[in-house]
Amino acid sequence: MKQEVQHSEMLAVLASIAADCLSYDDFEQVIERTLASLGRTVAVAHTSLYDCEHDTLGACQVVQRGCWFDETDSAGNLVFDFSSDAANEWLHLLNQGDSVRLGSAQLSALLPGQVHALDTLLMIPLNRNSQRCQGFMLFADRDHKNWSSVTLDMLKVAAELFSTAMDNEKRMLDHQLATAVFDKASEGIMVTDERGQILSINPAFTNITGYSLRECLGKTPAILKSGRHDEEFYSRMWQQLQENGQWQGEVWNRRKNGELYPEWLSISALPDAHGKPHRYIGILSDITSLKRAHAQVEHLAMHDPLTGLPNRRMFMENLERLMAHAQRSGQLLALLFIDLDGFKLVNDSLGHHVGDRLLQSVATCLKSQLRADDLLARMGGDEFVLLVNGYDSPDQLAKIATKILHVLQHQDGQPSGRIEIGASIGIALFPENVDDGDQLIRNADMAMYRAKENGKNQYHFYETKLSEEVVRRYVLERELRVALEEEQLEVYYQPQLNIDGTALVGVEALVRWPHPERGVLPPSEFLPVAMSSGLAYPLFKVVFLQVCRFMTLMDKQEVVIPKVAINIAGIELITNGCCNLIIDSLRSFGIDPRRVEFEVTETLLMHSLDDLAEVLDRLRKEGLQISIDDFGTGYSSLSRLRELPIDMLKIDKTFVQGISQESSDEAIVRAIISMANSLQLKVIAEGIETHGQLDFLRGEGCELIQGFLYAEPMKGERLAEHIANASYQLKKHD
Ligand code: C2E
Ligand code: MG
Ligand code: MG
Repeated sequence: MKQEVQHSEMLAVLASIAADCLSYDDFEQVIERTLASLGRTVAVAHTSLYDCEHDTLGACQVVQRGCWFDETDSAGNLVFDFSSDAANEWLHLLNQGDSVRLGSAQLSALLPGQVHALDTLLMIPLNRNSQRCQGFMLFADRDHKNWSSVTLDMLKVAAELFSTAMDNEKRMLDHQLATAVFDKASEGIMVTDERGQILSINPAFTNITGYSLRECLGKTPAILKSGRHDEEFYSRMWQQLQENGQWQGEVWNRRKNGELYPEWLSISALPDAHGKPHRYIGILSDITSLKRAHAQVEHLAMHDPLTGLPNRRMFMENLERLMAHAQRSGQLLALLFIDLDGFKLVNDSLGHHVGDRLLQSVATCLKSQLRADDLLARMGGDEFVLLVNGYDSPDQLAKIATKILHVLQHQDGQPSGRIEIGASIGIALFPENVDDGDQLIRNADMAMYRAKENGKNQYHFYETKLSEEVVRRYVLERELRVALEEEQLEVYYQPQLNIDGTALVGVEALVRWPHPERGVLPPSEFLPVAMSSGLAYPLFKVVFLQVCRFMTLMDKQEVVIPKVAINIAGIELITNGCCNLIIDSLRSFGIDPRRVEFEVTETLLMHSLDDLAEVLDRLRKEGLQISIDDFGTGYSSLSRLRELPIDMLKIDKTFVQGISQESSDEAIVRAIISMANSLQLKVIAEGIETHGQLDFLRGEGCELIQGFLYAEPMKGERLAEHIANASYQLKKHD
């Protein structure tokens, strides 16, 4: 049986606890020592210390901070369960600030599964300046203890001391944390007194500003002033700080090395006990790189990445503004719409990298012609616009345009080879009959179109009455672009037969444009526009792939079409990638190349570029056939014909139609047939409409024909029907 506590002994323990708690030693050891001396002094088998952590929902978690027990007493090493419902009741009492003393009857809930017959359990709350119990000390023994009220009071004092020590510990940890944050933060932190004199700064502040603590102490943040903000800016900042205790915003400051930089600054006022600000804490982050990135994004959104010139968006924004200004000031504006001639050919035949380089060099040339107030932009592709801001007379604009044409023609970026780069320029004036920026651009664009029509490499002023033809072609080109993108174009097929019309030898693919308003347009209506506006290759692609799909479908339906002849204008074939597209597509559709023929006009072949002959040669080696269309209209020499990679001549329909009418036409047809025979080329006559023409051709030994007499060009699905009805003697390609 343990002895009643000696008060003097207890006082000594309290004194040593007080000393311990003030020593800021390792707190875990202080707890350990204190619990041991308390336990021994009040002669119990077990003493322990608990922290209570309250969550936002009011639930309390009890965590043991330390424990001592009498190793000679088997009742000392105890584990209490504070999660039971009964424990909640006692915790509730502790929360009221009362000690809790339990007898043996109530203890079994705290010690589940343990059979010790404890008779004393005392819990003393640690309030630590809080409404709720922040923890408690616990004393347990198997004997009933009759502690005097003085002893109990002294234990309460011990709890108070613990409570204070634990508060100090928490403050110390908070302080350590704050110091670490202060030291390690990537934001600069500066603390000033109420007059704004700097008391401390962190390392990041030094990194950002270049100033050390020694250089800052006693100074005000004015050492960072950039001179970029006026007095009013700072007085508004101070006013807001006084009113709301807080201010934040972007500030331009100056580093110690003189460099200006933008920072995001947030200042909070720290009030004293009377609510008056006595410290200001400034947190600043250097936003130079953020600003740079932002500026880059802005630049990208407003500029063309290839040439660095403003893009359409930026141009339009500025145009509207300048037009509004010109309207007020009475200034004259002129818009030059500059479109390169021959660019598409460069891009398609020499590759995009050459095209890109050319555009860059054009941009440089145009920039060199720019006056301070003018505005230059790349609208897309090979289209540039130049807004001349203020001019005296149209003469002056004509001079500017002439100069631009001259520099473009003599620029360093001219691609080598036969393709010459020039430009067509359309000029539209403001405010002449123009309401908005879009209309001004449209007018200049139309005038540019007229310059192209007039033979390119020249300028043209917009006239209110541009010829109907020019407008029609302009509209047609715009519509055709859309039609090609949306694949509105459709391929028709016209049978090619033996002279008796009994066997199908192939079909000719002829493109049509089912125009949404104007009905089905024949190629003569839109091919010239396509060829002059860089749409030859897109058109070829549409036709060629439609033919491939059609042939595959017919094969599947077992409709035998020995061969399809496709018309070629020439430019498309020398477009980069065209040859590969043909070969790869045939391969992937599984079409025998010998079933595809390209019809090239005689005129083209005679004046063709070497590149075209090369491509035709390559295609022919792949097995494709080449025929000369509209033969007789060009001026082929026999020797040239012999050199060309061709399989067949196609007699032009104008000669066929002259049969029985013009003896000269008959003579030409006769000559072509015999020439083909002697060159061992096949020959086909097109445009046969009458039996007279047919009989003449038969008589001259022409074996193949194509014409309305037997069949007109028709849609793909009609062709399948036609073949079935005509019951040709079909034979597959040999
Ligand atoms: P082409 O290659 O000489 O085609 C023959 C033209 O004569 C076709 O006109 C055809 O419809 C027409 N035709 C056929 N038989 C007769 C007949 O008995 N009497 C008369 N009066 N005409 C007949 P279409 O379809 O209007 O094509 C005109 C030209 O357009 C073609 O002349 C060809 O050079 C070109 N073309 C057609 N499709 C394409 C294409 O996809 N690409 C290219 N580059 N040119 C094409
Ligand atoms: Mg043809
Ligand atoms: Mg023809």
